[in-house]
Amino acid sequence: MLKKILSGEACAACRLCCIFDRYDAWETPVFTDEIRRRIQEACPEAEFVTKDGGYIFKVGEIGEDQLFSCPALTEHGCMLGDDKPFDCRIWPYRIMEVGGRRAITIASICEELYNRPLSQLVEFLKEGLADSIFAYADEHPEIVKPYYEGYPVLMFERKELSDPVWGY
Ligand code: SF4
Repeated sequence: MLKKILSGEACAACRLCCIFDRYDAWETPVFTDEIRRRIQEACPEAEFVTKDGGYIFKVGEIGEDQLFSCPALTEHGCMLGDDKPFDCRIWPYRIMEVGGRRAITIASICEELYNRPLSQLVEFLKEGLADSIFAYADEHPEIVKPYYEGYPVLMFERKELSDPVWGY
């Protein structure tokens, strides 16, 4: 979904968004049941837990400096190809709930996009990406994360949530 502003080569050379530590375990992608099954066929040892109708992979005990990878990550990149979870297709844009409203934020860990002019990041949202993200979140509220400090808010949804996803 971001091919217009984020090249596949840049992503292939990085893959930081597929590797996590204990502090960003909350950032792991939410999978549909179909994708979860596909990963488990290729990687039977992968374990998942449910999250509001979707699935996230199970993270065991991890040490302070320990890193862990998404089970879909292979030495050739993501085994899911163009069928990545929505979370990954919009990365580093994120959808979060901020004070009872949904908002689109951006993760600073993606240097490729984070260092672009703010106007370019917002303009791309206005060209249709924001509508796609909010529409998907209507159907899959499990992808909406609680606001996490340090994620700049790029755009708020106009309407307030009638039933906030996360309580404060
Ligand atoms: S599903 Fe693919 S793109 Fe998403 S975190 Fe896992 S390996 Fe990376």
